[in-house]
Amino acid sequence: TPIALSDRIHPGEWLGMLGGGQLGRMFCHEAQKLGYKVVVLDPSGNSPAGMVAERHMAAAYDDIVALKELAASTPAVTTEFENVPASSLKQLSASCRVTPGAAAVAVVQDRIAEKAFISAQDIPVAPYCEVRDVSDLEQAQDALFPGILKVARLGYDGKGQQRVSSRAEAIEAFRTFGQIPCVLEAMLPLDYEISVVMARAISGETAIFPIGINTHENGILASTVVAEGLVKEDLAKQAREAALRIAEGLNYQGVMCVEFFVLSDGRLIANEIAPRPHNSGHYTMDACVTSQFEQQVRVMTGMPLGATDLLTPVVMLNILGDCWFNGNASHAREPQWHDILAIPGVSLHLYGKDEPRPGRKVGHINVVGTTIEQAKERARDVIRKMG
Ligand code: ADP
Ligand code: MG
Repeated sequence: TPIALSDRIHPGEWLGMLGGGQLGRMFCHEAQKLGYKVVVLDPSGNSPAGMVAERHMAAAYDDIVALKELAASTPAVTTEFENVPASSLKQLSASCRVTPGAAAVAVVQDRIAEKAFISAQDIPVAPYCEVRDVSDLEQAQDALFPGILKVARLGYDGKGQQRVSSRAEAIEAFRTFGQIPCVLEAMLPLDYEISVVMARAISGETAIFPIGINTHENGILASTVVAEGLVKEDLAKQAREAALRIAEGLNYQGVMCVEFFVLSDGRLIANEIAPRPHNSGHYTMDACVTSQFEQQVRVMTGMPLGATDLLTPVVMLNILGDCWFNGNASHAREPQWHDILAIPGVSLHLYGKDEPRPGRKVGHINVVGTTIEQAKERARDVIRKMG
């Protein structure tokens, strides 16, 4: 039987992580800092998290025997990958604490269910329609064009989505995706993007990290900037309230992120929910006492949530595999880490990925400064030295 809600899991015990990517790796580091041991379940042999965990189980996320063994080896399991089958979370929850739970993850991992859920909380989303076959696109309102067709499941970092200027293009894109369920969203005039990274404990207690401004390039997060007063308080308040409503509505337990668009007319639109720590929360590792990964550990162990105050202005820069190529696709060369680490305020995080492929997230750099201007100037220096 799963452990009681009130039970705490103490340092020295095992924690389970589904997924072996960089989010799992940073979770391992933070769990280990607190004295826990981590068992990672991930199908690949040399995953970023599998390499640093005390134990790695190489198995598929729906391997019933492996899940049974995982449940027997730890009192609590969390995830870093929203596409773990909800049925696997359900199986685990028969004998251990699973945060976030299967029901919440099931909503969030399907854009159709996710959009319907967010709308039902009276939170605005982009105008959209569900697309299950070509006729849905034939009947879609004109107002949805130009738009973006997104696959309902398994999309990430701009993958599984296509900008479409017309109905005909949307139908073509839908066919290219293999006519799997999709949503068609109207293309919105974005002023900028923000995200709310927060934690909700088993007790229902919540803690929200400061809101960052995100910049994307080619559908992939490029940077997050966080400083006191950067996001106007009325907008920040709206975003925090929406995120809290979403967390309550899902009876969510764990760390989650809600991405928002701020439109050119100032309106706030919820884009998507991530049921895990988020790339836009990486700044917390160097700019808050408690990082988003430590917060994830605190939730699953039943420990009190940590402080979320911003200690310093910060710019987070993602490092993509592209930095190894710089215009020469056939010749990879290591970025000049020595020069980058020479810049004051720089904290480098690399994920130990086996290969720096273009478009692949391989690390990030947090740049702090006394003022946001100083942090930004240092970040520009980093970008110049990245080549
Ligand atoms: P992913 O799962 O790949 O993060 P998102 O739905 O968040 O997918 O889309 C990635 C990025 O594409 C967004 O952060 C935003 O910059 C852009 N985008 C997505 N949907 C829209 C939209 N309806 N209008 C304008 N830009 C959008
Ligand atoms: Mg997104």
